[in-house]
Amino acid sequence: MAGTGKLFVISAPSGAGKTTLVRKVLKRFNSLSYSVSHTTRSPRKNEQDSVDYFFITVKEFEQKILLDHWLEWAKVHENYYGTSRQFVKNCLEKGRNLLLDIDVQGAKKVMASELEPVTIFILPPSFEVLSQRLENRGTDSKEVIARRLGNAKAEMARKDLYKYVIVNDDLDKATKELCLIFKKEIEMA
Ligand code: 5GP
Repeated sequence: MAGTGKLFVISAPSGAGKTTLVRKVLKRFNSLSYSVSHTTRSPRKNEQDSVDYFFITVKEFEQKILLDHWLEWAKVHENYYGTSRQFVKNCLEKGRNLLLDIDVQGAKKVMASELEPVTIFILPPSFEVLSQRLENRGTDSKEVIARRLGNAKAEMARKDLYKYVIVNDDLDKATKELCLIFKKEIEMA
């Protein structure tokens, strides 16, 4: 799957502020595309199909596993999430830089591939702040939040697998740090 575009992988526990940071970076770099993932979880109130995710059924997802459709896939918080191999291939072959926002399990699969991704982990300032942010978001039930916090601990323990680690304690500062990483890595390509 050799191409001329550069592949970026960002991971963070839910509530670390990753979505906001990713939006800011995408606005800033015209040569950077976003890979819209597929998921079997239900859309949240503010989410749009084909924009935030492609929302598909478990049956459709499992068929695509059998067809080797996914570059990587994982079960996160009881739902399937996956990245289309064909989409990534097309993008990189066209020379576009591409950003994947995926969990640690998926990131490890992409790290083990021939795609040599630039990997970035975003940390919340503390576990307490993360817990507060998830509650304030008001989009998930108590049970879902508890599950996400459990996963967050496990994910944060794997941060050293990544080339860059950013602490999102101040949005402007974290945005600047992230943009510098993209600038450096894109210019190096
Ligand atoms: P959420 O349900 O909050 O949108 O996402 C939950 C987790 O799934 C996040 O850590 C997010 O990065 C991850 N995720 C989203 N899309 C994918 C994907 O295509 N593959 C994998 N492995 N994880 C994903």
